[in-house]
Amino acid sequence: MSTIMTDGLHIPSTTTAAHHSSTPEADVGVSDLLFLEPLTEQSFIDNLRRRFHADKIYTAMGTLLLSINPFRPLPSLYDEQTLRLYKNQRVTDLPPHIFGAATAAYRDLIDHGTDQVLILSGESGAGKTEIAKLIIDVITSMRILSREGEQVGARLTLSDLVLRAFGNAKTASNENASRFGKYVDIALNSHGEVVGANLTTYQLDRSRVVIQGPSERNFHIFYQLLAGADAILLKSLKLQRNVEKYTLLRCGGAYRCEGIDEKREFMTTRDAMDGLNFSATECHLVFQVLAVVLKLGNLQFLPQTNVDGTESCTVLNDHEIDEVCELLEYPDPTRFHVVLTNGIIPEKNEPTENALSAAEASWLRDQLCKALYNRLFTWIVSRLNRCLSYSSSNSRSFLGVLDLYGFERFEQNGFEQFLINYTAEKLHVVTYNMIMSYEQEEYIREGLSWTRVGHASSPEVCDVMEKNHGLLFALDEASQYPSSSPLPEKVDERLIEQLCSTNLGTEAITLPKKTSTNNVPMDRFTIKHFAGDVTYSVTGFVEKNIDGVNRALAELMFSCRHALVKELFPDGNPARTNTKRPATLANHLKVALTSLISNISTKNAVQFKCIKPNDRKQAGYFDEAKIKQQVKYMGLLDQAEVRRAGFAFRQSYENFLKHYKMLSHLTWPTWDADAKEGVRLLLMSLELKPIEYAFGRTKIFIKFSETVCRLDDLRRMK
Ligand code: ATP
Ligand code: MG
Repeated sequence: MSTIMTDGLHIPSTTTAAHHSSTPEADVGVSDLLFLEPLTEQSFIDNLRRRFHADKIYTAMGTLLLSINPFRPLPSLYDEQTLRLYKNQRVTDLPPHIFGAATAAYRDLIDHGTDQVLILSGESGAGKTEIAKLIIDVITSMRILSREGEQVGARLTLSDLVLRAFGNAKTASNENASRFGKYVDIALNSHGEVVGANLTTYQLDRSRVVIQGPSERNFHIFYQLLAGADAILLKSLKLQRNVEKYTLLRCGGAYRCEGIDEKREFMTTRDAMDGLNFSATECHLVFQVLAVVLKLGNLQFLPQTNVDGTESCTVLNDHEIDEVCELLEYPDPTRFHVVLTNGIIPEKNEPTENALSAAEASWLRDQLCKALYNRLFTWIVSRLNRCLSYSSSNSRSFLGVLDLYGFERFEQNGFEQFLINYTAEKLHVVTYNMIMSYEQEEYIREGLSWTRVGHASSPEVCDVMEKNHGLLFALDEASQYPSSSPLPEKVDERLIEQLCSTNLGTEAITLPKKTSTNNVPMDRFTIKHFAGDVTYSVTGFVEKNIDGVNRALAELMFSCRHALVKELFPDGNPARTNTKRPATLANHLKVALTSLISNISTKNAVQFKCIKPNDRKQAGYFDEAKIKQQVKYMGLLDQAEVRRAGFAFRQSYENFLKHYKMLSHLTWPTWDADAKEGVRLLLMSLELKPIEYAFGRTKIFIKFSETVCRLDDLRRMK
């Protein structure tokens, strides 16, 4: 990865040296952990506890902001007055707050022209998405100069509501878990006004459409639709209000989400779609797709044994097919039936010789439900992007907000957790090494007197996954089956056998060791993740990894008259032949993450670490062991040590001089001699204390953000 710390970087801080004495305020601890004395794991945790119990959920660690999910609304923390305060005052003079951190990043972008990326990390339910929303609210409200600017801000908020409805779901660890990763790049013009944005989403947890774990739910939108649609809409969608009527909504055994009024949420989603100019027809088309998914999910296949002993099947509840065909404007239900039970487009409307068994047909039905929903989600994202688009000539700088799904560990962990935790692992290595590796390397490279602290995070897990003939490669190879027919039996076990034969087992990954005498099950493996060991059950890995849809199904969907479904399945166009290998999800994710990381490496990274206080989602409960574990695996103590001794700001001598030369008559209006000497004279005439800066080989390093804020204030006054 290239340098995260770009030249001209100003890491905004929510703290100042002056503001944070090492004496804690009564009971609430220090607000910047860099000023905690002594700095030990216990004092760190005790400080967080004191603040948590006093509703001080934000704590700074120099330029990094920690937050602990309070699991209850704290409206006074986010009122208009508070926002105004952070917008108008120097944030370094105020207590740490998300408003302060977001404002500081914005100001840095404006004052120094440095693109920013605000990275949220933390496990599932830690509060990332809530914070991402607050950040976007702050940024879009910073400078509104035109009606267009105002509209873009409103649209971003509405887009978030739509994405939550279609992409979030109740899981065991979070009632409102994001089931996709999200990166929003907000574009600003030369006046610092938001002009548009671009959303990138990562890997929707599409298997959830057809199966959910115990006490989990399908995506929120299904429940919203059933609760909130009026009788006319429900009738036109051929749906019933009762959730229990739908197989796809009852497999997790959970119908309700704590404290959520589904009916009201539906109105919110519907209003958001209106506000984003989804036409009434578009909304209806979207709801029809949801209805089709629910109805297909209800299809039951009755097994039949043929005279020759082979199996075939027929649909038990044919009326659902009739209704699906009506919704999709497909004229021939018989043909639809034959495709679903045979997996191919027949010559005539008759079963083919290789009809599918009931299990195979169910597999095909599920494939169609997943493809429909996943493609609908992708369509919605691109629809939102259309609404948020901006002209490149009008955009000068970018501020990105990264909210990927958080680390997960359940009793049973499958392919979904594997992808989520791979993503979390990559993000952890990158964010941890921003401080522990790149930052320290820069000090050493620049010749500052520096003793290394801690060690860089080992990328071993990512290596084992990504290297040549590594885990992802093996998974990819194992997934090279056409998506047209069900997979052979034991395909997942063969994947494990393949991994064992390539000796992939290392400290990072434990594979089952089968010998002639033991009978170890070959269906699971364990990865030593940064946040703990996770054992994955390999069942379903290969199937879920294949991103194709049966060709006959695609053709069937393409041949519908339903405008949206037709658009969702261009691969079903018979005129289009596809000779490409089927894409695989894990590989696709790897490529997308590589591109994401190279994007964020060009920006100034501001980190937010979200902490989950307990697994019960309970307000006021500070589970010390749980918090200690997170502080440990995020490496917060080591990072605090580096930040304590390190520098908040660095810039090449030339750029520093260009930016601040007006602050001294010695360097103003021009300085033609050696740039380093010019900076030395400038700092001397500004009477900065030697402790506030250090001279590197090519850059000046400033210790406290407060110093830079002071210089920027002076500059503005000139
Ligand atoms: P995932 O990785 O599963 O998407 P997440 O880190 O995005 O999890 P959130 O969905 O942001 O977690 O938060 C989980 C829940 O915790 C929210 O639905 C909300 O109820 C509560 N919560 C989070 N942050 C706050 C906050 N700052 N104030 C009040 N409640 C909060
Ligand atoms: Mg989330």
